Amino acid sequence: MSQPIISNKFKSENYDQRKFNISMIILHYTETKTFEEALHLLTSKKRKVSSHFLIDKNGDIFNIVNLDKRAWHAGESMWKNYQDINSRSIGIEIVNSGEKVKEKFTNKQIISITNLIIKLMQKYKIKYILGHSDIAPKRKIDPGVFFPWKLLYKKLGLSWVPDRVNNQKIDKSNFLIFLKRLKEFGYPYINIQNPDKQNHQIIDAFHRKYLPKLLNKKLTHTSLNKINDLIKNKKC
Ligand SMILES: [Zn+2]
Repeated sequence: MSQPIISNKFKSENYDQRKFNISMIILHYTETKTFEEALHLLTSKKRKVSSHFLIDKNGDIFNIVNLDKRAWHAGESMWKNYQDINSRSIGIEIVNSGEKVKEKFTNKQIISITNLIIKLMQKYKIKYILGHSDIAPKRKIDPGVFFPWKLLYKKLGLSWVPDRVNNQKIDKSNFLIFLKRLKEFGYPYINIQNPDKQNHQIIDAFHRKYLPKLLNKKLTHTSLNKINDLIKNKKC
């Protein structure tokens, strides 16, 4: 790993005071074509959004809100029973046009994100590295199905639970177990009472991160195996 070079050239005034210790890193994409557009949004006093870091397509890292402050990147969100994710997290925005445009993240971005997260993990007790879609699955899909989570985990030296493929469709009782496991793992807003409705966005969030090829496919035991293994191995 090499020390990341972090620029303090641009600052956002969109922040306030943290109420909790830092324990999470939340990854986002900017859904903009350019760095300039993203910077404009994240520093606009009108929009009231920000993040701690912004990663340009060429891998340049900008620290736009100091880490001891609460940046405004997560919005209405939750993980396990934790609320006020902004207070508990470091937000990293990656310049990328978004899932719909199918723009690939650049190798330089992935290298910078890796080096930055390693540095942050040395300084803070990071328990969870999550996507915006994990903590706000009903509103957000970023960093999207094309974000290379598996590669990132490998580069960070974190283990990744391998797929156990079983293409058998899951029945009703296993579907309920699947939902309960997602909830146990940390996914918020699962509706156990009304299992057939209102859960698809949360299931999508799980697939975006852990089984991107199965996004929008009929649920099979591959997905159930994955969540069971994640819980068993206590992986984030
Ligand atoms: Zn986001």
